Amino acid sequence: MDEILRSLPPGSRVLDLGCRDGSFPVSAYPELRVVRLDRERPSVGVQADAARLPFPDTSFDAVISNHSLEHMDALGPVLVEIGRVIGRGGSLYVSVPDASTFSDRLYRWIYHGGGHVNPFRDPAALAWRISEATRLKHVATRTLHASFLYLGRHHFRPRPPRRMWLFANGDQRVILWHSYAARVADQIFGSRLSVYGWAFYFGSIAEPIDTQAWSNVCVHCGSGCPAELLVVQGRWYKCNSCGTRNLFTPD
Ligand SMILES: [Zn+2]
Repeated sequence: MDEILRSLPPGSRVLDLGCRDGSFPVSAYPELRVVRLDRERPSVGVQADAARLPFPDTSFDAVISNHSLEHMDALGPVLVEIGRVIGRGGSLYVSVPDASTFSDRLYRWIYHGGGHVNPFRDPAALAWRISEATRLKHVATRTLHASFLYLGRHHFRPRPPRRMWLFANGDQRVILWHSYAARVADQIFGSRLSVYGWAFYFGSIAEPIDTQAWSNVCVHCGSGCPAELLVVQGRWYKCNSCGTRNLFTPD
């Protein structure tokens, strides 16, 4: 989504849709006017239903929908609403899990469905559907990789469910090696164990979108990064966003 955010002119209005605690740190883009919206977390900003957005037409220059469309019951009306609030020349970022992947199946097993009501399996069909509903041109699709950070112990209060014994109750070191093993297996066997889903880009985006998949995703903050931008020491790199040590694999 950074390709969209960093190419917006100062003062641009951005809607962070269904964002939980926020899809990106506002401090990274202090010149943007960001509205966070979530149905269940009024603490983050506006509490509202995405199928009935409380904003006039063309209120925003960009909408960010990061890991949220898979949770929305009324997907059709939500997409129409997104198109309505984006102004002419605006842009849209969408990321969703691929329901056919090991990562998403594991997530739904651990979290008993995890609130994923829309199982997406066909990226071309989804891109077409979003483009039709929002009237924004589909610009690019990128495959996203998982870091399995949803297995982290801090996600479970007061304690991890019994099935998390398989993952050492969410110990970050175990998740780190699990993520690394998935990526290495993918490179050896051509499997998709480390694949999460897709990022879609729509509308007018000044910056060209690099569609190469980034396999190195931080186990702590979830930031993905192209391998060539990482400083690698032996088998390890430090996350460019949060500084956490991660195991490295070439893209
Ligand atoms: Zn990080």
